[in-house]
Parts: sequence; structure tokens; C-alpha cells
Amino acid sequence: MLGNGDSEGVQAGLQARADVLAAIRLGGLVPWSTVDYPGHQSAVLFCAGCPWRCAYCHNSHLWLPRADVSWASVQAFLARRRGLLDAVVISGGEPLAQAGPVASALAAIREAGFKTALHTAGVAPHRLAKLLPLLDWVGLDIKAPFDRYAAVTGSRRSGAAARAALDEVLTSGIACELRTTVHPDLLSEADLVAMVTELRGLGVERLILKDFRAQGCADAVLAASYRPWLSAALAGRLRAVMPAIVLPDQVGAAA
Ligand code: SF4
Repeated sequence: MLGNGDSEGVQAGLQARADVLAAIRLGGLVPWSTVDYPGHQSAVLFCAGCPWRCAYCHNSHLWLPRADVSWASVQAFLARRRGLLDAVVISGGEPLAQAGPVASALAAIREAGFKTALHTAGVAPHRLAKLLPLLDWVGLDIKAPFDRYAAVTGSRRSGAAARAALDEVLTSGIACELRTTVHPDLLSEADLVAMVTELRGLGVERLILKDFRAQGCADAVLAASYRPWLSAALAGRLRAVMPAIVLPDQVGAAA
């Protein structure tokens, strides 16, 4: 049985978490998805705000930290979905840009009986390390060879951050998916081979390559210049380095 002091402590803790969750900045909620956490029926929460500016980003409407969806409405939604959904995916934007509220959200989601998943580009590896114990699965974006990251993200230190985030994920042993969006103006064939070789050297066995999608991209010039990039010769070179790599024509089958 809790004494008065213990009870007050519990109440204070719950109030503190409620205050943190009230400050979470969410830009959207998708009530049902089968692709965002492979093998699971999930709801997806989209965090608003991202410190990077990837030219191909298809969520550019989430770059700024607006709060369009309240945590109270998420809570009410999840209460109605108990037994109907397996998991909740927190995506973005970039969830690590508000890791404190996201940690509280993950804890609350687990307490509500759902598995937890995170989509991230690894912008803040130390914050990611703190979230990993609260997660069942991570989808980590790999954007380029680590020394070429800035050309894609517009952020000078992004390659070092992403490399450290990958280390955290691999060391933790958490179930994960690594994926790369390919636009041939941002990633050349040589970049792709270098990236896959680098990842194999770090022990990565499987990477999913995805085609750029123009929908949501804020860079009209980049969107207009997209063209097919995967030749049979390049596919052979990539598979020679990483036999389990998933190329765009296999992505549906992979999910
Ligand atoms: S890290 Fe993700 S959300 Fe941020 S700009 Fe890049 S693609 Fe968009």
C-alpha cells in the first residue's frame, strides 16, 4: 500500500508526464497502416519539426514545429483502438528533435498495450540511445555515404550523427530496417556502391533502396529532374556487395 508521501510522489510523476505530453508537437495521425512497421497493423503519429533539410523530403510540411494534433486526442483515439491495432509508429518530421515528449509518449503507448516503433534519420544519436529501451522496432534512414551526408541533408555534421545513430541501433540488437531514398541527382552510382560497401563493413546485411517520390517535395527542380536510375549492371554491383539488398522493384514484396 502506498503511504501519503508515496501517493503524492506518484501523482506528481503522472502530472509531470502529462505536462510533457501536452507539449508534444504532432503534425498528423494516420489511423491505420500496414507498411510503416512491417508485419504490424499500426497507427502512425507524425512529429512536427526537423533540423535537417533533405532536398527530397516528402514531409516538408512537417519541417516547422507546429502542433496540429493534441496528445489528448491521440489518447482518446488509442483508447478506441485497443485490441484492433498492434502498434503505434512515431514518425516525422524528426522525432529525435523532441525526444523528451517522445519518450513520454512511447511509455504511455506501451502502457496502453501497444508495441512501439520509431522512424528516424538519427539526427541525435544520444537521444536515440535513450529511446531504444522504449522501442520494439526502428526504421532508420541512411541517406548517403557518411562523408556525403551534408550534400543530401544540408547539415554539416549530419554524417557523423547518422553514423553514431547506426552504431547505437546495431549495438542494441533491436529489430530494425535500414532504408535509403534514391534520387540520381543526389546519389550517383558510385555513391550507392560506396554506401552499401560502407554499411557491409559495419555488419549491415540488408538495406532497402526506395525510389524518390515527388509528392510533398518542396524542391520543384529536383522533382522535375527525377529519372530511372537502376540499371541491371548497377543492381548486379550492389548485390555483389550486399546479397540481401532490397531494390525498388522488390520493395512491395519485402514489406
Ligand atoms: S531528416 Fe527526414 S523529415 Fe528531416 S528533412 Fe530529411 S527526410 Fe525530411
